[in-house]
Amino acid sequence: MPDIIQLLPDNIANQIAAGEVIQRPASAVKELMENAVDAGATEIKLVVTDAGKNLIQVIDNGKGMSETDARMSFERHATSKISNIEDLFKIKTMGFRGEALASIAAVAQVELKTRKADEELGTCLEIENSVVKKQEPCGTSPGTNICMKNLFFNVPARRNFLKSNAAEMRHIIDEFIRVAMAFPQIFFSLTGNGQEVFHLEAGSLKQRILQILGTSYTSKLVNVNENTDYLNVYGFVGKPETAKKTRGDQYFFVNNRFIKSAYLNHAVTNAFNEMVARDSFPMYVLFIDLDPAQLDINVHPTKQEIKFEDEKIVYAFVQAAVKHALAQFSIAPSLDFSLNADIQQMEAVSKPVSEERIESITSSNLFKTFTQKNQAHKIEGTNRSELRNWKDFYEPLTQQLPSDLETITGNENTNGKLEYTGYSLLKEEPKLRLLSDTVLTQLHQTYIVTPTPLGFLLVHQQQAHERVLYERYSQAIHGKHMPAQQSLFPSTIQLSVSDSVLMNELLPDLKVLGYLIEPFGNNTFVVQGTPADILEGNEKMAIELLLEQYKHFSNDIKFSKREKLVRCVAKQQAIKSGKVLSQKEMTVLVEELFDCETPNVTPNGSPTYLEFKADYLERMFGK
Ligand code: ADP
Ligand code: MG
Repeated sequence: MPDIIQLLPDNIANQIAAGEVIQRPASAVKELMENAVDAGATEIKLVVTDAGKNLIQVIDNGKGMSETDARMSFERHATSKISNIEDLFKIKTMGFRGEALASIAAVAQVELKTRKADEELGTCLEIENSVVKKQEPCGTSPGTNICMKNLFFNVPARRNFLKSNAAEMRHIIDEFIRVAMAFPQIFFSLTGNGQEVFHLEAGSLKQRILQILGTSYTSKLVNVNENTDYLNVYGFVGKPETAKKTRGDQYFFVNNRFIKSAYLNHAVTNAFNEMVARDSFPMYVLFIDLDPAQLDINVHPTKQEIKFEDEKIVYAFVQAAVKHALAQFSIAPSLDFSLNADIQQMEAVSKPVSEERIESITSSNLFKTFTQKNQAHKIEGTNRSELRNWKDFYEPLTQQLPSDLETITGNENTNGKLEYTGYSLLKEEPKLRLLSDTVLTQLHQTYIVTPTPLGFLLVHQQQAHERVLYERYSQAIHGKHMPAQQSLFPSTIQLSVSDSVLMNELLPDLKVLGYLIEPFGNNTFVVQGTPADILEGNEKMAIELLLEQYKHFSNDIKFSKREKLVRCVAKQQAIKSGKVLSQKEMTVLVEELFDCETPNVTPNGSPTYLEFKADYLERMFGK
């Protein structure tokens, strides 16, 4: 038998490695924009066509590259940003791995033009499939202009994996915003298919927030600013009344890098305490700056997670800083604020950074594992359990516990209407049916007591209605369209850029569901009609809530776009607990529920009713 192991050719090895860095057009956008930021640009223009599938171009006025550097920059592990392992603990740049350009060149056709300000001629370079096609001197403006064309042209399987243009464009906008938000002193623009989507003049952070998240936050932002020797926390939080139903406008940056952190999010939410409703999410754009030595920057390049050397301190600081800000602006005058007292006593804060501490950092797990080459992407902190606990806060509450039943039956079942009438149950096909003379009782403006031959049902009005609407809209999407009710006074809604991209994507399906909405240019839409159940005058709010809900869902890849939409519309339009229902309304609702194909649960599996059988009741009474 001959030997069988061989080394992969460079371009294939690069392609495989690229999979880690460049998953979709938005990943390339992030890398290229970050390179421009690292190059000290004051103006960064992003141009995309076909949501980046066709072209992603980033033009900057940064420091440019020499002829040799231009060629070198496409080599794997080629970087100007670190030169030894200690540098990893002082990182001030966005990039440092030297993988981005190599990855991009492995999976696309790249054209680079670059010139240093003090050189007369620049360099033009063409590279595809990791092979340099051309390199020659050329005239170009100072800075770097890089085009990435036909992403995944040589990896068809990955190209096919890309989502619709609208979906990919939304990812691009997200990444664009994350970089643009962190550097308000830099001008940014984004042009998609020839249309300028963002034009962000350099300015203050506050101006940048308003440019990106919309002027509805004007005079609704509270400044956060706490500086200590250990870390600085600054930025803005929205006043409590701006809290939204989904966690859209929430941004954390650590040393200017966008991160996602359920743990720190909890710190902010906690600081808002009782000021926002439980199901609402306060807006925040917060920057945490600290010594890079206090960070594990050694996470996967595309993951937005981060590990602090001491997470608890950061948590306490963020919470205190936000509380302080809210208190100072007398939004919560009664809050007792104790930043200095509590935190200053923590060891890591009171102790200056000593030789000893440096020693402990360099001997830490983090430091060691980084030097073990193959683990570079896989470092688990020593103690993740805490983080996991915090994450539990974000698990949706699953299933009502059966023990809840006892309180309900014990206290509320006082009307004595347990007649065995008005209800027929076919033995072979247990389809629920309500007879015409059944009297229904509403409890707590939430439950409908529905007698059955063998007990009674406690129908949850909101969850039941959600099931009814879900089935109705599912049918509409697959056949008979919902009738729309023409608005007498069409209202307009102004959306943020990313919401308007989403809206355009959803318009055709919304139409099927009875929403007649037309784009009016400039991120504005006109609502010409809505499903019959929506009250005139409420359209705007209904649609805004719908978008919020859809976004909440949008990471859930289990469902198709239409399925998500149907679920959102059903959820959003369902009558809510707390609404008084007439006898007629209750009867219609219960009948419609019984007519459903799956009457007993909501689309996401919560029960729509609880059943109390006579024998169970008798046992409860000790019979
Ligand atoms: P990294 O950013 O991790 O160093 P990249 O592959 O993104 O790795 O880039 C490699 C190198 O190319 C960078 O270290 C930098 O020196 C140079 N470079 C990339 N983009 C630019 C740019 N827009 N302007 C100037 N230099 C750049
Ligand atoms: Mg880079």
